[in-house]
Amino acid sequence: MTASHARVRVVLATHNRHKLEEFAAIIAQRMPQVDLIEYDGPEPVEDGVTFEENALIKARVASAHTGVVALADDSGICVDVLGGSPGVFSARWNGGHGDDASNLALLLAQLDDVPDEHRGAHYTCAIALVRPENGRPGAERTVEGVWAGFLAREPRGSNGFGYDPAFVPEGSTLSAAELTSEVKNADSHRARAFRAMIPALQELLEGE
Ligand code: IMP
Repeated sequence: MTASHARVRVVLATHNRHKLEEFAAIIAQRMPQVDLIEYDGPEPVEDGVTFEENALIKARVASAHTGVVALADDSGICVDVLGGSPGVFSARWNGGHGDDASNLALLLAQLDDVPDEHRGAHYTCAIALVRPENGRPGAERTVEGVWAGFLAREPRGSNGFGYDPAFVPEGSTLSAAELTSEVKNADSHRARAFRAMIPALQELLEGE
């Protein structure tokens, strides 16, 4: 059992500084005993077919490599009329990896003929937590956050990244790229997964 005052180290399996800062902020607020450390070990191939699988692949490798509880996330956009695609292919929908503008242009072109009432979509973020046991992955937890909305016909706004200029969250008239980062970070799929993650992380650390 971890004493409440003892410091615990948790590794975040991402090289994305923006995500590291977001995770660090929520953990500092909710679990101040945790020291979040950056991961600099081997990168596994993300060949899972769900967000959860990909997050687990990354967290398992990081926990085995570092010997501490590891946390990893995977996210993307799922469009109803495309049966949930781009999904885990969100970052490489137009072929290359991480070309936000061409990924978004292709998605909007594919939906050109789709009427407004069928343009539903949601972002999903899965977070996996893995505790190492004797150098191998031990106890595991996964949580998910979903942010529902629809896809506009034209991109609007310059905040955010990825599909944000065309994604209009439920209850909003603004695209996610027209929201301030404070508003987006409080309500997004990542924020929702972060909130679900705190009790799961507490539970996993109690077993240490
Ligand atoms: P990853 O989880 O950082 O690998 O994100 C995968 C891809 O999903 C990104 O490259 C984006 O295309 C998309 N995506 C995930 N989260 C967001 C978001 O908050 N806004 C816009 N696009 C996102």
